[in-house]
Amino acid sequence: MTGNADEGFRALRMVKDDGGIRAEFQTLPLSALPDADTLVQVQYSSLNYKDGLAVSGKPGVLRGYPMTPGIDLVGRVMSCESGQWQPGDAVILTGWGIGERTDGGYAQRARVRSEWLVPLPAGTTPQWAMSVGTAGFTAMLAVMALEDHGVTPDGGEVLVTGAVGGVGSTAVALLAAAGFTVTASTGRPAEADYLRSLGAAQIIGREDLPALKRPLEKERWAGVIDSVGGATLAGALASTRTHGAVAACGLAGGSDLPTSVFPFILRSVTLAGIDSVTCPMPRRRAAWERLARDLPAARLEEVTQIHPLTEVPALAQQILAGQVRGRVVIELE
Ligand code: NDP
Repeated sequence: MTGNADEGFRALRMVKDDGGIRAEFQTLPLSALPDADTLVQVQYSSLNYKDGLAVSGKPGVLRGYPMTPGIDLVGRVMSCESGQWQPGDAVILTGWGIGERTDGGYAQRARVRSEWLVPLPAGTTPQWAMSVGTAGFTAMLAVMALEDHGVTPDGGEVLVTGAVGGVGSTAVALLAAAGFTVTASTGRPAEADYLRSLGAAQIIGREDLPALKRPLEKERWAGVIDSVGGATLAGALASTRTHGAVAACGLAGGSDLPTSVFPFILRSVTLAGIDSVTCPMPRRRAAWERLARDLPAARLEEVTQIHPLTEVPALAQQILAGQVRGRVVIELE
């Protein structure tokens, strides 16, 4: 299957019927794509935690069926009715509801809105863009949020939780490249060398994070990038130094937040929320430009594995089980 218009294109579809929710590989005509102004030939997508939930049929991500999952993509514009893009332009799309509310990146073609697209930064490749993907873009937004709230490289240790995951790995690499002293927390101590190679100065086990016994713990972190949530995020808040900041990105460990107001009212700690899906366009472009400039490409390549679309259902199980290291790029061509 080449994906030519007259032959149809390959897609991974989530379908729902009396037998339940399941993933199916289908060949579809262009007329099956949603209504939007820009047709994109998808070259790569990636695997994020949210994709793992969607492809495993877990509730809460896909808003309708049938649906093509895949919350990000990179590709070439084939046609654009708004005139904002020319055929052949290389574009990136993360978030805005693709792979959730409208068809996403796990297909050789996507029809999307022209205002959602970001140009592929000069000097980068499509594969690079999806090595970064939603997870890496989110990590960049988290670093920018810490900086906006006054966290600087000379301010002390910055904690990254869920460090071996996609958001975590990229956050460690970005912070280290920017000169921060990074402490990486992981439930996989065997990956300590991997984390050091990304630039972590210190590795601590999940269970060695300061436990949340009291509303305020000893001050330790100048900043925190958290992709775990739950008691981990609560413990991080309680251990953040006065005027420090915590960027909350995820819920790999739980969506609750058993905290108190004390870190906020006694230490001026800032809890910055990160939502990559609705990130406004100027910040989006700035984040991608900075990723292209600051994230060492060789380091990113080391943390990336490339798989065909057919392997996505198995990979989805692995990411939910916390077994994926770094970033997974999905090849569509
Ligand atoms: P990954 O699965 O790649 O990484 C998550 C990491 O969290 C794992 O590698 C593991 O790290 C840690 N972890 C997993 N389960 C647990 C647990 N039960 N307790 C403690 N730690 C755990 O996912 P992503 O990096 O793609 O995404 C991470 C989180 O960020 C997800 O919740 C995702 O939904 C969210 N996210 C949010 C975005 C936003 O816009 N806000 C965008 C992208 C992702 P280790 O093995 O090192 O302990």
